[in-house]
Formats: sequence, structure tokens, C-alpha cells
Amino acid sequence: MDKFAIAASLQEIGTLLELKGGEYYKARAYRYGARAVAELSEDVGKLIKENRLTFVKGIGYALAKQIEELYTNGESSLLNKLRAELPPGIIELASVPGLTVKKVAQLNDVLGITTIEQLKAAAAAGKLRDVKGFGAKTEQKLLEAIAGHKNQERRIHLHHARRAGERILDYLGTAPGFVEGELAGSLRRSKETVSEIIVVASAKTPNKLIDRFVGFPLVMRVVEQTPQYCSAILSEGFKATLFAVKPEEFPAVLLQATGSEAHLKKLEQIAAKRKLRLTARGVENLGRGPAGNKARAQVIRTKSEWEIYDRLGMQYVPPELREDEGEIEAALKGTLPEDLITTDDIRGMVHCHTTYSDGKHSVAQMVHAAEAMGMKYITITDHSPTAFYAGGVKIDRLQRQWEEIEQIQEQTKIKILKGTESDILKDGSLDYPDWILEQFDVIVASIHYRYKMNEDQMTRRVVTAMRQPVFKIWGHALGRLIEKRPPFECRVEEILDVIAESRAAIEINGDPYRLDMEPRWLRKARERKIKFVISTDAHSTGALDNVKYGVGVLSVLCVSVVNGFAAFFTTETQRDTEIHRGKP
Ligand SMILES: [Zn+2]
Ligand SMILES: [Zn+2]
Repeated sequence: MDKFAIAASLQEIGTLLELKGGEYYKARAYRYGARAVAELSEDVGKLIKENRLTFVKGIGYALAKQIEELYTNGESSLLNKLRAELPPGIIELASVPGLTVKKVAQLNDVLGITTIEQLKAAAAAGKLRDVKGFGAKTEQKLLEAIAGHKNQERRIHLHHARRAGERILDYLGTAPGFVEGELAGSLRRSKETVSEIIVVASAKTPNKLIDRFVGFPLVMRVVEQTPQYCSAILSEGFKATLFAVKPEEFPAVLLQATGSEAHLKKLEQIAAKRKLRLTARGVENLGRGPAGNKARAQVIRTKSEWEIYDRLGMQYVPPELREDEGEIEAALKGTLPEDLITTDDIRGMVHCHTTYSDGKHSVAQMVHAAEAMGMKYITITDHSPTAFYAGGVKIDRLQRQWEEIEQIQEQTKIKILKGTESDILKDGSLDYPDWILEQFDVIVASIHYRYKMNEDQMTRRVVTAMRQPVFKIWGHALGRLIEKRPPFECRVEEILDVIAESRAAIEINGDPYRLDMEPRWLRKARERKIKFVISTDAHSTGALDNVKYGVGVLSVLCVSVVNGFAAFFTTETQRDTEIHRGKP
């Protein structure tokens, strides 16, 4: 077995363990291990021979044994055992919402169903109601679930897509004749999730880039390949597509590959009005050619995306804004802000956890990491006591943390703010008694439990919290987890009205699973002149980097500026504002 086949088997073991239940960490170890194996730069056989498998990060003793077995025998006893224990077709069938392992086993026992196709046929024929526990209603629900499931393509979280995309770029960079490369598609537009990783790269001989791409260690399977284009499935299951072009074609192809469709369509209309046409090679002049040569259109080579926009008589539009939500009109009028907030503007790391609650690193480690990133301040905001499952900090330990912060503060230039991520309790009060709350420099107020209150109760809960007299930042406001948990129910605008009149701000949470709030609500908040804080919600030093995703959200929001709302990017963000005690 080669490393990809081994990785695929480990992945299957992980998934089966997870479905079987009860061994969460073991399941996770196998999935991590699968990735580690797929990414190995050394030969598996050599590692096994020299007994060095366990030296690889992510591969422990148990995993190493399975890898050895797979490599030498082509099969794994653990995988065989799991396959025998669970009903056939379980991985495919368990992906249908509403189907548990037990139900899949019943369907298999009674009707011999092992695939979604068979399940669909049986449900449509009304055969499921013969199985104990299935009725006509369940049948209908399953049919709906299957239909919904089919339309749903696999979405990749932004940070995973970016990581994989950047690795592809690094790798292509070593190809002979490589000139430049860039991520494109919705990844470049900073969407929350993307359906595929698109890369545009240029070289004198583009074909060589395709050859190189096909050999990328994480490519599992090539789906389609031409001399200019290649689409493949990576080991993590992501789809990745490379457009390989000549250097002079790069800007135009990058623009096309970045999208969005709606944005490009409008650009085409503007081009047509100017007797121009956008093509993969640049901008084509459709007007009368030289010496009456009408038939041959003249191609104007463009050196950059900036030049293409310029030829169309408009300002350059940053990728994050290319959604046809008013940015084109603004660019034509020249009113697009040219100073979108960037990560370079960020002065502070807000919302950081440490080992006092559920963080991985100590206060000192977080502080030094933030300082190394050039920050001027950091807020230490560990969980409050009610979040006991996340190691919520009780008062005595909190006071110890404050002493520690004071000691560290003496040895460092970066300003350390004492804070908390205080739970918003059921009744809307904040965790900790008032005399403690008053001593914090900053409070992130978040909901972590009882998500299922009804709209009325939830609205009252948050409104009460936001009316508390201390200054607070509404943390990961609506509690969503992208692709996993929807925002909780509440009347958002009513809450925003209250925040606008309270001592409160709204967090833009940089955790790529949260990115809370969504731009549509941030626009509403902006209309009310509510202040924002871009946070990292970091639980480790590495996660401080999450702030860039928060910046991405705020860049998108610039469209609201376009639509006539207040311009705030230069004056009211972390760019120039330091958080002072009690107010940002
Ligand atoms: Zn939280
Ligand atoms: Zn947090």
C-alpha cells in the first residue's frame, strides 16, 4: 500500500470509530494520523524499516502499528473488525440526517440496504414502513433529507481551504519557470466556506505547472486535466483546481477566476458600453481596428487587475468586495474607500484564553506571542465560573491571575488588560458579583449554554445583559458554529437598539468556525453607530492569527460604506483606538 491508500484506511478507521461512538479521542487520533501520513515527505517503507514512524508528529505507537500492518499486509485487523461490527454502507448512509447506526443496521437487516440510492428507492416504493420504528412520516422525512443532502456540496472552512491553498502555491513555486501564483475564487473573496480551492499560476510553459500540480503529495485523484487546467481531489477530500497560464494572461485569468459571477457580469456590461470586452488574455477593443481592419479585434494586454479596472474607467475593487452589492457603482464614482482595514492596522489581541480556563498556553506565553506580533495591547479573557466545563475561573484563582498579570506587566511593554469572557446567564445577568465585574478592564459577554430558549426569552436575556452598567463586548453574538449550529433565535434589531444606547460594543469573532456576527447584521449595527471589536478568541498562541479572518469580515462590510452608511474604517476601529479602561 502507498501512503495515500494507508491514509485512506486510517481515515476510514477514524470515521468508523466515531460512528461506533464512545472513543472520541481515538477516532480523532486516527483522522489526524491519516493527514500526517498523506503529508509525509519521506518514504513510508523507509520510516518503518528504520523504526522512525513514531517520530512523525501525529503518529503514536498504536497508529504506527496499524500503518505497518497496512504497509506490509495491505489490510488492517482493526479496520476489518470495525467493518464487521458496523452495518455495511454505514459511512455513506450515516451521512443522511436522521439516520443513526441502529437505524442503518435495521434497514440493512430487513431490506438489505447499503447505499443511499437503495434507501431512496425503498422509501419511494413505501417499503420502509415495514421496518420496525419506521413509518410513512419517517419515509417522507428521509426522502426530503436525501434530496437536501444531494444539493449540498461539501463546504470547506476558510482556514482549511487557505492552508491547503497556500501549500499548493508553495509547492508550485518550485516548478521550473514559475512566475507568480495566487489563490482565487471565493477563497480570495474571504467567504466563510468555499466549495473548492482555486489557484491561478503563471509560467512560460504553463503545461509544466500542470505536471507539477499532479505530483503534489496531497493530490489523491485527478478529476480532469488539460494543458491549461487541472482539477483534483486532495487527501482531505477537498477539491482543488489549478489554472495554469502564460505570464501575460495572469491578471485577466485571476480576475475571472476570483469572481463573483455577479460582479463579473456587471464588469462585462460596463466593458460593452465602452466597446471593450474582457477575455482571458486581457481587454479586447471592439472598436474599429487600424486601417479599417474591422474583423480583427485588438487585444490590450493588461499588466495587473488594477489596470483592467482602470481601463473600465473605475477604481480597483478589492476581492473581498466583489459581490455586486454596490461596490461597482461606488468604484465608477470613485467613492470606494482605498484604505480598507488590513491586519497591519490591528493594534491589539482581544479575547484571549489561557491555561487558567481552557487555553493551551500560559498568560506569559500569550502575552509574549502578541508582543512578537507587534501588538500594543492584549486582553486576557478567560471563562467565568458558570462555564465550568471550560475551566471557568473562580474568584480566588482570578485574583491569582491578576497578580500574575501585574508581574508579567512589569517585564513587558505591551499593555495587558485584565478581562473575562463572562457568561450571560439565563436571566441576562453576568457571571461574577458586581464588585469583581467593576474591576475588569474589559468584559466579553457571551452565551455558552441554553441556546434553545424561544425568541422572546432569548431577546430579553441578551437585552438585560447589554443593559448591565459595566462596559462589555457582545461575544460571538448569535452563537453560530459555521456548518454546525445555526444562530440562536432572537430579535437582533431590538438588541442592537439597546446596545446603541448602552455601554457596549459588538465583537467580530475571528475564530473561523464562528465569524460571528454575519455582515448583514453588522451593517444593521453600523447604521446605529455601534462600535466593533475584531477579536481572535484565541485558545493558543497559534490561534492569535485568527484575527485575520475577523479583518476579512470587516473588509466585506465596507460594502455598507458603499451603500451610504458611515465611513468608519479610518477612525473607529482598532487601527487608531486603544482600549482604555472601561471603553474601547
Ligand atoms: Zn465563548
Ligand atoms: Zn472565548
